Amino acid sequence: MNSSLIVSASGVRGIVGEGLNPEVVVRFACAFGKMVKGRILVGYDTRTSNKMFKYAVFSGLLSVGCEVVDLGICPTPSIQLMVRETGADGGIAITGSHNPPEWNALKFIRRDGLFLFPEEGERLFLIYKKNKIENVRWNEIGDVSQDNSAIKRHIQKILEVVDVERIRKKGFKVVIDGCNGAGSVISPFLLKELGCEVVELNCQPNGFFPHLPEPTPANLQQLCEKVKETGADIGFAHDADADRLAIVSEKGEGLSEEYTLLLAIKSVLQKRRGPVVTNISTSKAVEDIAGEFNCPVKRTKVGDIYVSRCMKDCRAVIGGEGNGGVIFPPVNYARDGIAAIALILELAARENAPLSFITKDLPSYFMVKKKIKSIFVNFDELREKIIKNLGCVKVDLLDGIKIWLDEGWVHIRASRTEPVIRVISEAKIKEDAEKICDMVVELILKK
Ligand code: MG
Repeated sequence: MNSSLIVSASGVRGIVGEGLNPEVVVRFACAFGKMVKGRILVGYDTRTSNKMFKYAVFSGLLSVGCEVVDLGICPTPSIQLMVRETGADGGIAITGSHNPPEWNALKFIRRDGLFLFPEEGERLFLIYKKNKIENVRWNEIGDVSQDNSAIKRHIQKILEVVDVERIRKKGFKVVIDGCNGAGSVISPFLLKELGCEVVELNCQPNGFFPHLPEPTPANLQQLCEKVKETGADIGFAHDADADRLAIVSEKGEGLSEEYTLLLAIKSVLQKRRGPVVTNISTSKAVEDIAGEFNCPVKRTKVGDIYVSRCMKDCRAVIGGEGNGGVIFPPVNYARDGIAAIALILELAARENAPLSFITKDLPSYFMVKKKIKSIFVNFDELREKIIKNLGCVKVDLLDGIKIWLDEGWVHIRASRTEPVIRVISEAKIKEDAEKICDMVVELILKK
């Protein structure tokens, strides 16, 4: 297999024309069609390669006897909602998500709207690798139809579960940066339904991204400027498939992506108590906020499927990941940047204060994230080295190594989507977080 094709729990991704080409896409679509059978919904973000890949996906699915429903350009969470709500047998999202425009990917969706579980992903990959798929005969080939209702249904679902009147009364002025991705076709319309004065920024769904689509503060410059220039109350930015959300305050300051989840948790727990779920790498502020409402927090491995699955099992009221991925079960057991917008506006309306005030009230920690490229790490040895050099209060081996020190915590794990080791530290004091992270990176590099 080409080295730039990456197969992970929920799908397959690669650089267009290198690892990911139409042949690979047809074969994966055949394998998925063979595994789930029946009616499969297909949606895509705005990438230029999607025109090429959607027909490859259709072809693969049809060749094994599936029926295809083309949902058009829509966010990944809209596809997930449609699969669940229309009783389809599965779905495929063609989206490179937060990756640069030369990337693309297929994400495979179960009939309940969740991504494939890791064990199902492995089964799919085995079918793909065997490459012995029998095509159906000429008279067993399914049909292709179109369904353009995903956006409308998704907006409707969100409006049913937030306090629309309260938000409308505030008449927020909002800048939305769709990164010319799939969020461009939904979020401006949701905002209008919520009575906002909407300033659209990069909402042309053409796949030419004006900045990198990952919604991190570094990529929010243009949005920050626009919020200042227009005197808006808030700015929102999506990645290319709008499962993630980043926020800019009324001061034109980009908030750390950790804040999206924290604000959403606060918004939900003010109305409804219950378990909160997040991954092991997300800020300790989650426990602090949930604690204020006497709600328990469960931690999972890193990856939205682990969070979604745990949320379903424990009937969580809210959850997600610290990368701007909010999971709000009344809408979706999936990361949903569009539902997150409504939750944040509901919080702002209820608190009746500018966003910078609301965030100032949240527990404050400093987080440092570093990546180390292409290196083999013996995690047992590393754990011993860290404990010896830095001391240790508690160790968690759920996913890589997480070690609590007196000053804070550090988490080291091998990425499942990139050939890198991720090191994340968090402490009350910025210098402590930096010191912990630097020391661990040094220990990893010192063979
Ligand atoms: Mg995404």
